[in-house]
Amino acid sequence: MTLPDVAIVGAGITGCSAAYRLAKAGAKVTVVDSFGPAAMASGWTLAGVRQSGRHPAELPLARRAVALWADLDAELDAATQYRQDGNLRLARNPSEVETIRTLVAEQSALGLDLAFLEDGPPLRAIAPAVSEDVLAASFCPTDGHADPVASVGAFVAAARRHGADFRFGERVEAIEVAAGRFCALRTSAGLLAAGRCILAGGIGANALLEPLGLAIPLRIPMVTVIQTAPLPSLLAPVLGVANADCAARQQTDGCLRVTSGVQDWHGEMTESGDGWPKVEPTAASVRRTIDLVGAVLPRFREARVRRIWAGLLDLTPDALPVIDLAPGVDGLILAAGFSGHGFGIGPATGEILRDLALGHEPELPIPAFAYDRTALRGSAGEPAALTLHG
Ligand SMILES: Cc1cc2nc3c(=O)[nH]c(=O)nc-3n(C[C@H](O)[C@H](O)[C@H](O)COP(=O)(O)OP(=O)(O)OC[C@H]3O[C@@H](n4cnc5c(N)ncnc54)[C@H](O)[C@@H]3O)c2cc1C
Repeated sequence: MTLPDVAIVGAGITGCSAAYRLAKAGAKVTVVDSFGPAAMASGWTLAGVRQSGRHPAELPLARRAVALWADLDAELDAATQYRQDGNLRLARNPSEVETIRTLVAEQSALGLDLAFLEDGPPLRAIAPAVSEDVLAASFCPTDGHADPVASVGAFVAAARRHGADFRFGERVEAIEVAAGRFCALRTSAGLLAAGRCILAGGIGANALLEPLGLAIPLRIPMVTVIQTAPLPSLLAPVLGVANADCAARQQTDGCLRVTSGVQDWHGEMTESGDGWPKVEPTAASVRRTIDLVGAVLPRFREARVRRIWAGLLDLTPDALPVIDLAPGVDGLILAAGFSGHGFGIGPATGEILRDLALGHEPELPIPAFAYDRTALRGSAGEPAALTLHG
């Protein structure tokens, strides 16, 4: 059977894992990115790989992804720095204790291995560095984290070995459609004809959809990230908190990488020295992030700061992505709106996108991610905090 040529817009985790799966299946794949691999959300991220706190619709993807992450280094012949060291979500006051208790009850009922830890020996045994002020926590031992740049790079290298072509520093200017069918990408380097297109452009997706009369309702908030110099081993699991206003993990090199909650974006994106996009957080947000993380992880306050940046999220009204065939444009597949938690599920998303691009029914359920679902087209309310990044 002849497989279609597939053009992919975006070299984040979504586009690169899809590229790998498609190239491995034998399709001719070309990935185009304005900058390079993991230049936006997939590089800005905390990079937690979690099932806990997920919307029930995303749980099957998160579980499949965790199964894939376990073998990914061997599969891709690379070191993603994936560690399955768990995820602790902390309660800092009585109301958060009830939030965590409810979360544990609901997600345990869905079959997730999630424990409720009262303060004391069980919590201290898992994370001795957590503040004595923390009252309780949920703990999911099968969650974890990975290095985002290494992980996306691993997909790129493995996809290349299967023949995929990556065109970095090339901007997609338009999606060309003829007789209701995708036919080519118009890029800063010319026309790229293909039989199918996967649009995995993160916050850049709507600029390409709007000329086609399509759009994913997106709000683009900002998250502040602080990375410290290496510390001695301090924290194995990823830390979150009940209302998602901060998160932290210790990288395999010892550096702490901590994040704020979701904040309004001031609207400015500049360029870093290498010409890649850069977002600068405000001083107030940096201070607040230090205070919030320092309150649950006191050793963070003494660490030397190595880097500070901010990341942008492609947040939909129900905090779920759009993974669907584009209505009215045959051959165009949409994969955007990952709402601050698309890194962990990236390996599973790649499998779904491979299936959609090859015209197969995905094994994982995706109706909740439909382009025309009511939750997207209705009022754009605030998504539940627990579904947010981390
Ligand atoms: C601070 C922060 C913390 C997070 N924490 C977590 C976490 O702990 N766990 C988790 O699972 N998720 C987390 N997320 C979310 C996760 O990182 C993203 O959902 C995921 O990386 C999205 O990947 P993507 O490939 O869909 O998009 P992106 O990584 O944004 O990739 C899109 C790519 O498309 C390219 N592009 C866009 N428009 C064009 C164009 N016109 N032409 C060419 N190229 C184009 C961009 O250059 C970019 O490289 C976090 C996000 C942030 C910002």
